[in-house]
Amino acid sequence: MDCLFCKIAAGDIPANIIYRDDQVMAFDDINPQAPHHKLIVPLKHIATLNDVQPENNALIGHMVLTAKALAKELKVDKEGYRIIMNCNAGAGQTVFHIHLHLLGGRQFKWPPG
Ligand code: AMP
Ligand code: ZN
Repeated sequence: MDCLFCKIAAGDIPANIIYRDDQVMAFDDINPQAPHHKLIVPLKHIATLNDVQPENNALIGHMVLTAKALAKELKVDKEGYRIIMNCNAGAGQTVFHIHLHLLGGRQFKWPPG
């Protein structure tokens, strides 16, 4: 399949992978928007949040718990951090394989742009 994150998961495209298990991987975003900017990506290809089904419940929960654990490892858990999933082009999704952005290490504004 012609999918960037499937290719990273398969090892066909390099990335700075900081975590991997049987369900998800996490790596540095190539264009960081904060001092810490990691992507938490399921190994299974799901194009957008609109395609997530009840059977993916545990996987989505595991992505969130992975983000939480990484935030603690990065020592941004106390000061605060943000997780984001963009859905479709209007929200800024550019890679159509779901992923959580984990952003930390700076002050964030609300509402986001
Ligand atoms: P989104 O715009 O929400 O779909 O997020 C896609 C993210 O993937 C962007 O923040 C990009 O900077 C990031 N990205 C694109 N190509 C790569 C790559 N080869 N390795 C790591 N991150 C990437
Ligand atoms: Zn994919």
